[in-house]
Amino acid sequence: MQKFEKKIIKNNVLSEVYCNKCGKLIYSDEIKEKVDYIDVSKEWGYFSNKDMEIHHFDLCEQCYDELIKTFKFQPTKTKK
Ligand SMILES: [Zn+2]
Repeated sequence: MQKFEKKIIKNNVLSEVYCNKCGKLIYSDEIKEKVDYIDVSKEWGYFSNKDMEIHHFDLCEQCYDELIKTFKFQPTKTKK
């Protein structure tokens, strides 16, 4: 025999994403126009000055383009 009970499960659901650099809203459940953005997450290790810290940020495409212009070497680009 199986018994069932009703449970309410609460999950963290992504509702909005803001660009860390310019502050623009780049994702929302209510925005109909889909835009892409870069999502960076880094867990720093023992050989850094941020050991055990996890850093995360999001950038809109415009801020990403501005950022990579400052790179000495451009990101590697490939297509699927
Ligand atoms: Zn931005």
